[in-house]
Amino acid sequence: MILVVAEQRGGTLNRASWEALACAQQMGGEVSVLVVGAGVDAVARELSAADVRDVVVVNHTALADYTADGYTAAVTDVLSRITPDVVLFPHTYQARDFAPKVAARLNRVAITDVVAVKRDGDRVVFVRPVFQGKLLADVVSEGDAPCIVTVQAGAFQAAAVRRGASAAPIRQLDVQIDEAAIRQKPEPPFQESRQAVDLTQAERIVSVGRGIKEQANIAIAQQLADAMHAELAASRPICDAGWLPMDRQVGSSGQTVAPKLYVALGISGAIQHLVGMKGSQTIVAINNDRDAPIFEVADYGIVEDLFEMVPALTAALKS
Ligand SMILES: Cc1cc2nc3c(=O)[nH]c(=O)nc-3n(C[C@H](O)[C@H](O)[C@H](O)COP(=O)(O)OP(=O)(O)OC[C@H]3O[C@@H](n4cnc5c(N)ncnc54)[C@H](O)[C@@H]3O)c2cc1C
Repeated sequence: MILVVAEQRGGTLNRASWEALACAQQMGGEVSVLVVGAGVDAVARELSAADVRDVVVVNHTALADYTADGYTAAVTDVLSRITPDVVLFPHTYQARDFAPKVAARLNRVAITDVVAVKRDGDRVVFVRPVFQGKLLADVVSEGDAPCIVTVQAGAFQAAAVRRGASAAPIRQLDVQIDEAAIRQKPEPPFQESRQAVDLTQAERIVSVGRGIKEQANIAIAQQLADAMHAELAASRPICDAGWLPMDRQVGSSGQTVAPKLYVALGISGAIQHLVGMKGSQTIVAINNDRDAPIFEVADYGIVEDLFEMVPALTAALKS
């Protein structure tokens, strides 16, 4: 059995949880979903629409806000009572924070950042990027079950989740949490991070690279983004230069995104950028160098000067 640990915040599920569920369904066999928090029954009902064996719910006041200690205690307690072969987490900041701790607490194997799953006879082979995405490694767990796995955003399509013929049963589990043992005390988010954009949830992204030449020209990309109802993102040099905030950076040291549409303007397509966006459903690249590596992943490539192409596109979209 595969257990997917869905992630919610304030009663809202993130897309990465559905992607992890799509991965579990594609692996085959029975799938259960676990959702942890306080007052997460509505989230459980949402998940129960999927074609899964059941949805396991852990509600506890100590889990209202995420803490590594609280969530580790809850998930390890659940895993002491239900024994899946594999536990799948979405590879989010939150799961990256506590999934390795769950694995260490249980003395189990953790395989992170998984982008594909294959079968080799009876063995399940997890594929994950190594060396900044330059190579893909096949990884097999030789430890005892369950193996703890995180699934990279965009590697699987949330829309591919199979719905069930009827709602899956929802099972409440009571867990023992020693609140005094929770060492983190969450405070309200900083104003800045409350405003921070979550590019992982964006359906459309217009992303700018060094081809934009100077900060003032970002307005051209912003106008296209506005006309497309898209979020603005960037390659690393743009954020390093302070032309856009760091939370808009896409790539190995930024966010991993998987929108329906990713429009890359003046981005060469360095591997560190590609690993953050190649899971996008449709990629459009505008670059005046026909040999730019971005064209290797693009579905539509436009070899043009962006300063001519982008205003023309914006005008066409507005009309
Ligand atoms: C450890 C490490 C981590 C990194 N992490 C990241 C990361 O998270 N994200 C990231 O993006 N990078 C990252 N990088 C940097 C990465 O290696 C590249 O340097 C970077 O992605 C290049 O950004 P760029 O494509 O905007 O710029 P460039 O490589 O300079 O490309 C600019 C492109 O614009 C095109 N262009 C120029 N003028 C025009 C025009 N008028 N019209 C159309 N096209 C034009 C050019 O042909 C060129 O292809 C990382 C590097 C390291 C070493």
